[in-house]
Amino acid sequence: MPSTSYTLDADVLVLGGGSAGAMAAIWAKQQDPSQKVVVFEKGDLKYSGCIARGMDALNIVAVPGVSTPQEYIDSIHQTCDGVVDDGPSYAMVCRSWELVQTLKDWGVYFPQDEGGNYEVLKVHPKGRFALTMIEPELKTKLAARVLASGCTVVNRVMAAELLLDEGRVAGAIGLNVRTGETVVCRAKATIVTAGGAARFGLPSSGYLYGVYDYPGNTGDGYVLAYRAGAALTGFEHTTRYCIVKDVNIPLLYIVLTRGARVFDAFEEDITSSDISINALVRRHEAGRGPVHIRLSHLPEAKIKAIEEILFEVERPVQERFHQGRGVNFRRQDIELWPTDYFLCGGHGMSGVRVNERAETTVPGLYAAGDNACVPRGHLSGAFVFGQIAAESASAYAKQVSPPRLNEGQVAAFAAKLAEIGARRGRVSVDECEHKLRRMINDYAVPPKNELKLAEGQKWLGRIEEDLKCRVQVGSVRDAFKVLEVENILGCAAVSLAASRERKESRWGTWHYRADYPEKDDANWAKHILCRRGDADRDVRISHKPVERLA
Ligand SMILES: Cc1cc2nc3c(=O)[nH]c(=O)nc-3n(C[C@H](O)[C@H](O)[C@H](O)COP(=O)(O)OP(=O)(O)OC[C@H]3O[C@@H](n4cnc5c(N)ncnc54)[C@H](O)[C@@H]3O)c2cc1C
Repeated sequence: MPSTSYTLDADVLVLGGGSAGAMAAIWAKQQDPSQKVVVFEKGDLKYSGCIARGMDALNIVAVPGVSTPQEYIDSIHQTCDGVVDDGPSYAMVCRSWELVQTLKDWGVYFPQDEGGNYEVLKVHPKGRFALTMIEPELKTKLAARVLASGCTVVNRVMAAELLLDEGRVAGAIGLNVRTGETVVCRAKATIVTAGGAARFGLPSSGYLYGVYDYPGNTGDGYVLAYRAGAALTGFEHTTRYCIVKDVNIPLLYIVLTRGARVFDAFEEDITSSDISINALVRRHEAGRGPVHIRLSHLPEAKIKAIEEILFEVERPVQERFHQGRGVNFRRQDIELWPTDYFLCGGHGMSGVRVNERAETTVPGLYAAGDNACVPRGHLSGAFVFGQIAAESASAYAKQVSPPRLNEGQVAAFAAKLAEIGARRGRVSVDECEHKLRRMINDYAVPPKNELKLAEGQKWLGRIEEDLKCRVQVGSVRDAFKVLEVENILGCAAVSLAASRERKESRWGTWHYRADYPEKDDANWAKHILCRRGDADRDVRISHKPVERLA
């Protein structure tokens, strides 16, 4: 492992250049162009993160005359089974229409009919909020804007540790995943936008990277914040979706809102029954899967329109996938299957606890996007909270003096890297990750019970030992993967502890405990907060009532 390093200074440091991070960087510069904004991105800003390249909808927009912020709050109470604070969701939905105007100014296309009406689809229990957007170049446009606004982007750098200075977060230490070089950034304010834990459960394909969400997201942001003392919440909400088998590409709402029909394995047409993701997973688990989507009854023009969206906007690889499987929508159905389990704030409920100003529970640290718990805000949440975090971080950076560089922390990280680089066991890091994620599938996900969860906690100890004593580290790649596996393990520890604590079942299949099969609002309509004790696996738990708008 090379031992070179260099140091940067920033007013605002953004960790993760996906949707939220790119927006946060642009917005921070917009707050004050004289402020120095640095972005650490594990991949390459141009194509990294959930958007990858394009996207076809902003899932939450209160379009004037179509739906209201209050309707969204009523809707989110339902989708979160009551365990959600109103403040962050309300802040997000109230700014969603303004966000659309900003994106339009940046050249993002939202189709309108001849009367000037937008296409707003109904995918929430109340109101219509999913605004169609046809933007195959969304991420590249954002990336270009980040660079044009004068931010310093450090690609291929994984944020590995937050710097601390007398109880406040003071920047981060990063590791270049190609060269092994260490990058230290001392910052007055830090925004963590490193996504969720996509590589959590193992997908049924068995491939480590064949996950629904962006595979570079290994819960790093959660663990960074947790180690710095921030509270995490919602980690018992272990999510999985039901989407196109093996390729894990979503399409349900795009096709349903355009006339597709859904059948279960017994050819029962279930289109007009409950076809929420939870209901589809339940049907699958009850032996009535695979569920499949049929388009063959639709007119050619409709199918072509669907193909255009699916094959050109979000994930163009979908076209090759269906061709490879011999699936032509005019003749063959599309097979759905439950995805891997993942933890996510934006399309789940697990994240760093934030308030409506994107502040975490630690001074100097802000969180946005899938990394923060603003449940089910999706892309709208990532963008709006990217903006909010930038505003808060930028204002904070103006008030505080530059932090001191904690030399001891930098030296300890260098020593840790050297120790990781010297690991000479017989097990590859990939095998260790595979084992960990298989154990997550076995013990940390529904159906849960006390014994399984407790066994899962024991297994984490064994895998931690494997990672320390039995892995073979022969390259920079192996070394940063060790850090990723540590983070997946940290997320599993928090998830298992929170799942053990929540002695009820909630959120459909996502937190089903066979030993407490009923929902218990009297005792559990509240948040479980997790803070780190003396080690990642030492999870300290507290409870917090949900907060409603006055
Ligand atoms: C397949 C799919 C389809 C979706 N479709 C829609 C849709 O149609 N409409 C909608 O509203 N929402 C949609 N969503 C949800 C939405 O895209 C996400 O909620 C949103 O993009 C999350 O943004 P983010 O910035 O939090 O995470 P990401 O965009 O995933 O960005 C996280 C970034 O952090 C980087 N990173 C990770 N770890 C580190 C580290 N340690 N150091 C530095 N960088 C790091 C990653 O490389 C990545 O670039 C979809 C999500 C998926 C997965």
